[in-house]
Amino acid sequence: MTDVIKKYLFEDRSVRIESVHLTDTWLAAQAHHDYPRAVASLLGELVAAAVLLATNLKFDGSLLLQIQGDGAIALMVAECRADLSVRATVKLRDQPLPDSGDLQTLLNPHGGARFIVVLDPPRNTPGRQAYQGIVPLEGDRISEALEQYMIRSEQLHTKIWLSADRQKCAGLLLQKMPITGGNALTSEAAAEQSWERATALSNTLTSQELLETQQDTMIHRLFWEETLLGFEAQPITWKCSCTRERVIDMLKMLGQTEVDDILTEQGKIEVACEFCGKPYLFDAIDATSLFQAVTVADNKTLH
Ligand SMILES: [Zn+2]
Repeated sequence: MTDVIKKYLFEDRSVRIESVHLTDTWLAAQAHHDYPRAVASLLGELVAAAVLLATNLKFDGSLLLQIQGDGAIALMVAECRADLSVRATVKLRDQPLPDSGDLQTLLNPHGGARFIVVLDPPRNTPGRQAYQGIVPLEGDRISEALEQYMIRSEQLHTKIWLSADRQKCAGLLLQKMPITGGNALTSEAAAEQSWERATALSNTLTSQELLETQQDTMIHRLFWEETLLGFEAQPITWKCSCTRERVIDMLKMLGQTEVDDILTEQGKIEVACEFCGKPYLFDAIDATSLFQAVTVADNKTLH
């Protein structure tokens, strides 16, 4: 089954609803990592949140959610691009990791953690400059920090529910839509009532239900008394930007002497992508041929 995000609007366009549920994408994120349970659960929530926010902001680049921690977790990042491909990673400090833990104990034991939302424009944008919004890491949940960010930076009332285990991650987002001028389909007062109703209904959802229930079923159970406009589901995929070619370029930059030293010492070269952890292996013949190929190409004798 494909991972998708589903979007709905209250008929009077007062409230936007988004639901995301990831299995394959989330398993791919962990394929080369063995994150402890508590860490996986936090990262899964961050991934679901990145998808919810990226599809929601009118923006054509990537959205990155980044938590810089001062505890056992040094850094946690989830990125969702405009094509709804995602990648995510965690950097752990070299210290014993507690068996269990939450946002505050794993990332913010000394109160110095920072939650950063980065909007990174597409690479070909002239004068490309990323926008960064920073909020303190307050609250017990990632959703709380993001709700704070949305109201401060986007002036949008947003409620977010997130849940993750090692197999799945899921999220639900509600957003109060701005009522605009004469063409509004509803009054401010009616929109406020819709918002109150939508959040009250969604607050009945448990973490377990969010994770275990199929998206359509969950939306129906929560909002069956409302009339919703549904939109086409959009697929979510996992994509890291690492390739063997990029690793080769990196090894070439490192230089033949350095590469030969590693070969002498280890008999092979193993490089793992620092983001997704995918290993790239070069045996002595692979590694030596990198530099031979350069020499041949430089002499332009091979085309
Ligand atoms: Zn990678």
